[in-house]
Amino acid sequence: MTIPRTLFDPAGCGLPSEADIASLASAWFPEFLKPLDSGGGKLSPDAASGIYAPQVLSKDPAGKPGYPEGQGPFPGPRYGSLSADASGGRYVGARSLAAIRGDFPILAEKVHGHDLVWLDNAATTQRPKAVIQRLTCFYERENSNVHRGAHELAARATDALEAARNKVARFIGAPSPDNIVFVRGTTEGINLTAQAFVKPFLKPGDEIILTMLEHHANIVPWQIIAEETGARIRVAPIDPSGQIILSEYEKLFNRHTRFVALTQVSNALGTITPAADMVRIAHAQGLRVLIDGAQAVSHLPVNVAALDADWYVFSGHKIFGPTGIGVLYGKREVLEAARPYQGGGNMIADVTFERTLYQGPPAKFEAGTGNIADAVGLGAALDYVDAIGMEHIAAWEQELVAYGMKALAGVAGLRLVGTASHKAGVLSFVLDRCHNEDVGRFLNTKGIAVRAGHHCAQPVLRFFGLEGTVRPSLAFYNTFEEIDKLVQALQELTDRRK
Ligand code: PLP
Repeated sequence: MTIPRTLFDPAGCGLPSEADIASLASAWFPEFLKPLDSGGGKLSPDAASGIYAPQVLSKDPAGKPGYPEGQGPFPGPRYGSLSADASGGRYVGARSLAAIRGDFPILAEKVHGHDLVWLDNAATTQRPKAVIQRLTCFYERENSNVHRGAHELAARATDALEAARNKVARFIGAPSPDNIVFVRGTTEGINLTAQAFVKPFLKPGDEIILTMLEHHANIVPWQIIAEETGARIRVAPIDPSGQIILSEYEKLFNRHTRFVALTQVSNALGTITPAADMVRIAHAQGLRVLIDGAQAVSHLPVNVAALDADWYVFSGHKIFGPTGIGVLYGKREVLEAARPYQGGGNMIADVTFERTLYQGPPAKFEAGTGNIADAVGLGAALDYVDAIGMEHIAAWEQELVAYGMKALAGVAGLRLVGTASHKAGVLSFVLDRCHNEDVGRFLNTKGIAVRAGHHCAQPVLRFFGLEGTVRPSLAFYNTFEEIDKLVQALQELTDRRK
């Protein structure tokens, strides 16, 4: 029996609403509305063999929108959650921090006999069970190549992929899913923009403006095209706190400026840049701007329309989704103006040996078989954070950052690096007479995971006269108690070295 596409995905945009499911389910599958063994009156995808039907949605105890049981943002069973006491009985929005931690199986790991304290979130975030289960579900029930096969699984996989694209568009405030190109990650998104959009119009003497805060991923691709075309890079400076000096940035613009690329949040310092103002300044000169959102999306509510970004890029693994999948948002006109980045299947309308006609965006930039399952997993990650609420996540993290900065400042011989008043997620520091790597190794013996090194941001660290820092970095599942453990371990280390 074939499920009608409309029931599988009635709105064409991801999980259907509860009302849609109830009405469609009673129209098409009245027999499934009988109570199952739990008496819940739900549809089960296993209720009849071969039928893939969405379930009637369950309500999360936090009163958030429902999801099919075992597949929603908060599926059970919970793993090793902190007790309410250990998480301080705190809530992030309507969900307790203890329950949130229980959503992330890996947070129950022991490392060297200690509870894992994951403070390496700027490198990669951990995945909630909702994402892990969504990937399993995809491979167990939907796996197929997309957009081609005239069979049921091709329809399911295509629906799941396009639902994920819709979720991304909604999550970042894009006007349409057609603005969303799936890429491998931030790095690929920036390279795509550089090669496909900027390089074709660069000529010798042209200038690209970056900032001192950039990750290497937002420096090297521009250097490559600058070398190839004779263009050059200009760099917006920062003040000693690690914030962009807006008046100096403004002075960089001249008749040679062709493009601007800037980070919204610095991965090495955590500085939140005045990205919207910087875009406005560039637009006043008629220039297009790319925003690197890799470190922003999991910490701040992001709205590309409010930012007026021409291009916006981020990686799935920085926002509780899978690795190997990322998003490049582009305004319609820039996506149309850009040439294809790679050629191959999926991105063509018609091919002869004489010429090829391309699809419109986003297909034009998605040559070959993409990372379908992980795009679907990313959609589940966005559902998860959406259900908690980015505004609640941002508020809790601001408390964590303030607490962490204050607590670390009390450690003798510790110098905080990056003290902008507007910052998110990152607590970089160096410790007197200690190599960063030694600090990282010592913390590891206590089960505390931090990054030590240059964080792929050498220019900004050298601005501070450093080759590296120790970088604890936060996510909304972190607690004050974990910060206390970090500070205690650092105090023990400094005491030992007296
Ligand atoms: N930009 C920033 C600000 C980052 O923090 C990172 C990764 O840490 C990247 C770009 C590159 O991301 P990815 O390695 O996922 O492509």
